Amino acid sequence: MSNQTTNPSAPTGIVLNIQRYCSHDGPGIRTNVFLKGCSLRCKWCGNPESIRVKPELSYDPKKCKGRECSLCLKDPFPKGAFYFTEGEEGPVKVNWDLTSSCDQELCSLCPTGALEMYGKRMTVDEVLDEVEKDASIYRSSGGGITLSGGECMLQPDFSAALLKGAHERGINTAVETACNVPWANIEKVLPHVDTMLHDHKLTIPERHKKWTGAGNERILANFKKAYETFPDVDFIARTPLIPGVNADEEHIRAVLAFIRPHKNVIDYELLPYHRFGLGKYEYLGKVYELDDYKTPSDEVVKHLQAIIDEAFGRTGKQS
Ligand code: SF4
Repeated sequence: MSNQTTNPSAPTGIVLNIQRYCSHDGPGIRTNVFLKGCSLRCKWCGNPESIRVKPELSYDPKKCKGRECSLCLKDPFPKGAFYFTEGEEGPVKVNWDLTSSCDQELCSLCPTGALEMYGKRMTVDEVLDEVEKDASIYRSSGGGITLSGGECMLQPDFSAALLKGAHERGINTAVETACNVPWANIEKVLPHVDTMLHDHKLTIPERHKKWTGAGNERILANFKKAYETFPDVDFIARTPLIPGVNADEEHIRAVLAFIRPHKNVIDYELLPYHRFGLGKYEYLGKVYELDDYKTPSDEVVKHLQAIIDEAFGRTGKQS
């Protein structure tokens, strides 16, 4: 535990998960702190449990003991939220419209862990005490804390307090963001950031809206303003690469044209689409819409990476 004194007026936030030993979201070995809430609805999203700001119910039918248990059909569970269909065996069914009052205390009554909550409210010190456990690893690897989500800039006071507190404890800071938030949020957070990883998902506004639920005009304006207002921050552009959506030269070259005039954009990374974590859609009672989409081939990734390497003067890395 740290010897920092707890500040009772420090903001609290809704944290989805704290993941240690991460190596892909900023320099060195890092602890990723995932915050709840997102302002985009990317159809390929692999973290649907991060979209809602509030904590929410998760239900894994594979863990349910079914009728032999039936606990969640009784008080204090909300009436009608859990039910069995007449004559059918198997796990309990959920009426998701009636589950908004479920909380951690209620879920703890489920004997098998089939019912759980995604997300909980935490203080800045609670999060940083957890993060600080790996301080020696950060020192030896050049790592630190990365705030991710969801969209960490949707909880700007909490994010700013976390990052400021991390700096006070000598911990390097990074954020992973899509910047689909008011500039005022970004302005609050970025003074405490060493590295900002930011997504260039699609270039054309109409296509951006089709695939993510929002246009990219505000996002691009925020990126440009961030590059210009915070010259000491290292910016790393990223694209989640999805065949049939954006895994093409046109998009990669458009992003390069946008970022290369700004010398503090130090890299552009490709994140090949994967299908991990899709089971979480079922746990939330949601349907995954991109069922037919595949991961990009190694050939496509190598070709697009070579274009990026050339633009960054790393021609020796081309394959
Ligand atoms: S309390 Fe848990 S194990 Fe029991 S019926 Fe409900 S979901 Fe299934």
